[in-house]
Amino acid sequence: MLTEEDFLREIRRRGAKRINCVRFKDNRSTVWSLTRRGTTLNVHSAFRRATPDILRAFSKVAGEGGIRSATSRDAAQLISDWPPVKRAMERARRRHLEDATENGTAPGTRCCGTPQQQTYLKTLYRYFNETRFNGRLPKRIPVRLNNRMRSALGHMLPGEREDGTRYVVEIALNVDLMLTGNGAERADTLLHEMAHAADYLESGNRGHGPSWRVWAKRVGCRPMTLYDRPVRFRRRRSDPVTRVPPLPPALRGAA
Ligand SMILES: [Zn+2]
Repeated sequence: MLTEEDFLREIRRRGAKRINCVRFKDNRSTVWSLTRRGTTLNVHSAFRRATPDILRAFSKVAGEGGIRSATSRDAAQLISDWPPVKRAMERARRRHLEDATENGTAPGTRCCGTPQQQTYLKTLYRYFNETRFNGRLPKRIPVRLNNRMRSALGHMLPGEREDGTRYVVEIALNVDLMLTGNGAERADTLLHEMAHAADYLESGNRGHGPSWRVWAKRVGCRPMTLYDRPVRFRRRRSDPVTRVPPLPPALRGAA
């Protein structure tokens, strides 16, 4: 394991005389960068285990003050393709995704819904999970409203943990589904996306293939792709949609 001082000494010895400081960083997306007019080299902490050929590549890139020739371009390529750093960054990205999912700030869509709308969706999801899916879905999957979808009415975003287990990052619904007159489409779309979630979690399949259609029929949503359905839309896309539709009769007064 190299310290920052070791790393600095090694690349200076190989010709990168302009560098006077090396910093190890735990970035999710940056393999290396040069700062302070090219005198500080920031490298991903996976490079604590850098091999001699990687140190040589760094000394080329840093010695030229960046990617300025075919030689330094090849060196940079070698660095970013180094398997340990690729694995470390993939791990960091997954960890970030899992944390974000747990505390509700996952990537994908930002929910444009009000707290009341979010409570409504959570309640409806729980209700459908119990009454249509036999409780086979996770107790909580983020169900978000999206005000940017145009033709699509919803989506299910699949995720995979480092150990290979599947999870659902989110289900998102087109916010227009909250408008008056869209009740049937709203229920159908949520069931459609929940069927994708069940299908993905149990079989790993995505899309509208046979295993999804089995779920769709079982839970009672239309076994087809969700496009071009009769659904009411906002007059202007900038209009906020704050309506909270009534819950199914069985749930009224219970939420
Ligand atoms: Zn679908």
